[in-house]
Amino acid sequence: MPEGPSILIIKEILAPQITGKKILNASGNAKIDMTQLLNKKIIELRSWGKHLLIILPDCTIRIHFLLFGTYSIDEQTKPDRSLRLKLEFEKKQIYFYTCSVKLLTEDIDLLYDWDADVLSESWSSVNARKKLKQMPGALVCDALLDQQVFSGVGNIIKNEVLYRIKLHPETRIGKIPPRKLTSLIKEARNYSFDFLKWKKEFTLKKHWLAHTKKICTRCQLPLTKKYCGNTKRRSFFCSNCQVKYQ
Ligand SMILES: [Zn+2]
Repeated sequence: MPEGPSILIIKEILAPQITGKKILNASGNAKIDMTQLLNKKIIELRSWGKHLLIILPDCTIRIHFLLFGTYSIDEQTKPDRSLRLKLEFEKKQIYFYTCSVKLLTEDIDLLYDWDADVLSESWSSVNARKKLKQMPGALVCDALLDQQVFSGVGNIIKNEVLYRIKLHPETRIGKIPPRKLTSLIKEARNYSFDFLKWKKEFTLKKHWLAHTKKICTRCQLPLTKKYCGNTKRRSFFCSNCQVKYQ
């Protein structure tokens, strides 16, 4: 699943190409009213966690890339059955595949909690801490994937952050010592920026220390792979150096 930094990269690529441009045609198999998009000018592109938001004067197109969503510019690279939305401009076409497309008519500033986005300038670690305090029984592996707390964090970021701060994925939030909780919140944002930088350099995988890895580089011991928590996503961790506070 594309994580927050990947969506930010897509936004940075698309924004200069379509901002201010008028939609001349909209098609695809997304269940939205395509006529609502016709002749509308793109005001702005924004991202919130894993959502790409294309803002028009009276509505917003919300694209969620789900597990296998992709896009292409000027050339259709996937079959029609995967094509959810095609936006045509005077000299440009943008294609979105296997993603969820919705039209939002509400004010997005009311709809979205911008300070929950780990990559946003409005990110608030204080608010993240408050939200965590309200879920003492949650496992940290689930809390990190909670988009209301850490919008943009996906499974790779989860595994790498927990490895970095030496915290076991099955630790309950309420059992994490205050200083460790501070590191958790700080690194969720820090690692997301590292992810962004490495992804742009095409060196992301090379920097993985835990995700899909077999050996702990600190202990030289095998890493455990387990589908932890309610989210049942793959966790890779070292049961020797990643502490499970009880
Ligand atoms: Zn270790």
